[in-house]
Amino acid sequence: MTRKEDLFRGSIAVEDGKIFAMGEIPEDFQGELIIDGSGKIALPGLINSHTHAAMQYFKNFNDTHSDLETWLQAVWKYEAVLKKEDIKIASTMAIAEMIRGGTTCFTDMYFDVEQTVEALIETRMKATVGLTLFGDLEESKRRIEKSLSYLKEVRADHPHHVSFDVAPHAIYTCTRDTYTYGKKIADENGCRLHTHLSESPFEVEQSKRNNGRSPISYLNSLQVLDSNTYLAHVVHPIDEDLDILRRTGVSVIHNPSSNCKLGNGIAPISLYKDSQVNVALGTDGSSSNNTLDMFKEMRLAAMISAASTRNPVALTPFDIIRMATANGAKALGKDSSCGTLEIGKDADIILVDTDKPHISPMNDPYSAIVYTCSSFDVDTVMIRGDIVYHENRFSYIDIEREESRIREKWEAIKQRVTT
Ligand SMILES: [Zn+2]
Repeated sequence: MTRKEDLFRGSIAVEDGKIFAMGEIPEDFQGELIIDGSGKIALPGLINSHTHAAMQYFKNFNDTHSDLETWLQAVWKYEAVLKKEDIKIASTMAIAEMIRGGTTCFTDMYFDVEQTVEALIETRMKATVGLTLFGDLEESKRRIEKSLSYLKEVRADHPHHVSFDVAPHAIYTCTRDTYTYGKKIADENGCRLHTHLSESPFEVEQSKRNNGRSPISYLNSLQVLDSNTYLAHVVHPIDEDLDILRRTGVSVIHNPSSNCKLGNGIAPISLYKDSQVNVALGTDGSSSNNTLDMFKEMRLAAMISAASTRNPVALTPFDIIRMATANGAKALGKDSSCGTLEIGKDADIILVDTDKPHISPMNDPYSAIVYTCSSFDVDTVMIRGDIVYHENRFSYIDIEREESRIREKWEAIKQRVTT
C-alpha cells in the first residue's frame, strides 16, 4: 500500500515481530514456520479507525429510531446498566469479529477502558483505546483522574499493542472546557484527540444556534484541531470547513455504514481527498452498523462515493484500501510501525484467499479486495508476527465459549433494564 504500482509476487520473511524481507528472501534466512501463500493476496492488516467495541451487545437491537438523537437516548438506557465484566465480554467478541475480518488494529471510544485493555492483551490485538470524556470539566477531570495513570502504565508495559488517546465524545455532550482540557492532557501525554464531529444535520444546526458557527469551525476556535486530532464522521462540512480541515492537518474518519444507517447523510470524501485531507475508514460501533466488517465498509465507501459524485473513479479501489490501511495508521500516529508492508515495519499481515468461485479469475487485486472479496475470504491474520487466526482457528480466543458468554450476558443485561 505504498504506491499503486508496488505490487509484487514473492515471499515475505518475518523476524522478531517485524518484516525482515520481501520479494526475494535471503538464502541464509531460515524460517521456523512457512505458510504457503499461493493464490492469496497479502495485505497490511486493516485498521478500523473508529469504533466502540463494547457496543457489541447492541447489534440489531433497538435500531429502528428515526434519528441519531432518539437512537442515542435508547442506547444510553442500556449502557447505564452495563457492569465492568460486561465490557470485557463484549470487547473480546468485538475483537474476535475484527480479527476474523482481517483487522489487526482499531481505535476505540468507550468507558471502563481497563476491561477493553484486558481483552486486548489476552487476544494480542493492537488498539488505541479512548480515555473517553463526557460532560463538563469537573466530570472530565474525574474521568482523567480515574484512568490516566492506568493507561500510561499499560502503554509502557505493552507498547506494541496498547496505546491511548483522549476522546471527548461530541460537541453536544461535552463542554468547551472539556475539549480544551482534554487537548492539553493529550498533548502532555503524547496522545491524540479523537472525537465525533459534524455527524448529523441536527448537530450542525445546534452548533450554529449555540456557537454561531459550524461544528468544525467551533472546534477550530477552541484550538483543538491539529495533525494530532482525528474526527469521526464529518458528514456536513459547510463554508470554510474544508479549508480548516486542510490547514489544521486533522484526519477524517469515514464511517459510511453508520452514516447511511442512521440517516445522517454521505460524507464528501473525494472533496477531502482533493483537499489533501487524510481520510481513514472505521465501522463505528456495532449498534449503528451493525458489523465491524471492514470489507463491507470498503465496498460501501466505494459505492456511495461513485453514486453521490456520479463519478466511479472519484475514489479508486486503491484509494479505498489506503483509507483502510496506511491512512488509518497515519490518523492514529502509527505510520512508522504499521499500515503498509515495508521492511522494518511490524508484521501485521493478512492473507486473503482468492482461490474461490467468486474471485476467479482475479484480474485486479485492488478491485477484487474492494468489490468482490468478503471478510470470510481472510485466511490468515498476523499481528506483530504472531499468528492470531489461521484457517478458521483463533490462536488466543476460545470462540465457542465467548459466543455463549456474550449471549448469556446480554440476557442478564436486558433483565436489568426491565426490572
Ligand atoms: Zn462513534
